[in-house]
Amino acid sequence: MKTVGTAVSCVKMEVEKCKWKYGKQAPVMFMIDDFANKYMADKLDGDYVGADWGGRCRQPHSLYEFLQKKIFSDFPYVKMTLFLVVGRREAFIANGKPSVSRRIDETPEFADFLREITEDERFEVAYHGYTHGKLQEDYLTQEWITFTSLEEACQTIEKSKKLYHRVTGKKFYGGKYCGYEFNEFSDASISKSGFEWWCRHWDGNIYIHRSAGVENLNIEEFSGCVDIPSTVDGGLLSLLNIQKFISRNYLRAIYYLFKYGLTIERILDRLVQNGMVVNIQEHSSPIREDEKHQSPNVVDDISNIRYILRYLKRYDLWYATGHEIAEYWKTYQNTTVLLDGNWVVVAVEKTELVGKSIWIALRWSNKKESKKGKYLLRSEIGTDIEGTNYNDKIIFEIKLKQNRERFKLISN
Ligand SMILES: [Zn+2]
Repeated sequence: MKTVGTAVSCVKMEVEKCKWKYGKQAPVMFMIDDFANKYMADKLDGDYVGADWGGRCRQPHSLYEFLQKKIFSDFPYVKMTLFLVVGRREAFIANGKPSVSRRIDETPEFADFLREITEDERFEVAYHGYTHGKLQEDYLTQEWITFTSLEEACQTIEKSKKLYHRVTGKKFYGGKYCGYEFNEFSDASISKSGFEWWCRHWDGNIYIHRSAGVENLNIEEFSGCVDIPSTVDGGLLSLLNIQKFISRNYLRAIYYLFKYGLTIERILDRLVQNGMVVNIQEHSSPIREDEKHQSPNVVDDISNIRYILRYLKRYDLWYATGHEIAEYWKTYQNTTVLLDGNWVVVAVEKTELVGKSIWIALRWSNKKESKKGKYLLRSEIGTDIEGTNYNDKIIFEIKLKQNRERFKLISN
């Protein structure tokens, strides 16, 4: 066993933090908006696929069963972030098609179902308003636009958090503005309410903008809250999906190609190759009171979603929820790693991150060097962390301690 330094065999060694967990290329988040204790009521049993927002729980033809059969059966590693409307989800128009819409605690069956979902590690339940909005002049105004003061926004969030906690025993880590619409009080209501992460903008707009807007494909931070970008429209069809050739969405995909030079494949490639979040935007039920199909939605887009998930298999990705991405990003931002002779020195700035893990990578200028053998990092109290060989690098998971920690690099 020997200790290696920075200049063994004239080969330069470098250490770096891994941008994403396990040293993966990019994270993939899958968002389903408008999860609620609601379903459309003018359907017969057996016709419910596409008319359920979650309210039919695990029954046959429910949203849950659909996700199970069409996504998880073939892609069991996918993580979904469900955006929950906690109270009675408001209708889109007055006197539209009939629906059954209730608070999450109004039916024991839904309360039990929701609790089970929060225990299921494939899902994160995030916050998406108390009602999603109000009917004003017969049409829905999105919830955060309806607040006339910061206090009103915070009180509504507080009411929702309490109800959610009473039903599930859990807290929300993050959420999203309804319809990505907000006003001058909105961001303060999110940071004051202690959310760890939020989705503020439909950042996919950036692909078709000519001038700079609020969108950003990178993660941003506002008042200590992590803003995760929404980057992929699950309804933007691949032009290879010729079964959809006669649909409006197919025409839109052709328009994107000719007007902006964009295809869904190019968007996915660019995000992954730049280590950005692949964040797929979808909704639950396509069917709503106004008889319009909301785009995107998991039911109408299922063949495209399955295509996207198959396409992404060419890359080495981290499938994660909003909370997992936000937590790792914060850890990455607040940790320093450097090489001091034979020692790797790791320090964390925020005490709240003590106990979290950062992945680091050792890399040699001569690629052969990294393939030579096994490496260990040995802490000053003699604990060993084994490295994993991965794409010409050696990757280590370091659990962060209160004080700056030093590890000796050992090869055997
Ligand atoms: Zn929504």
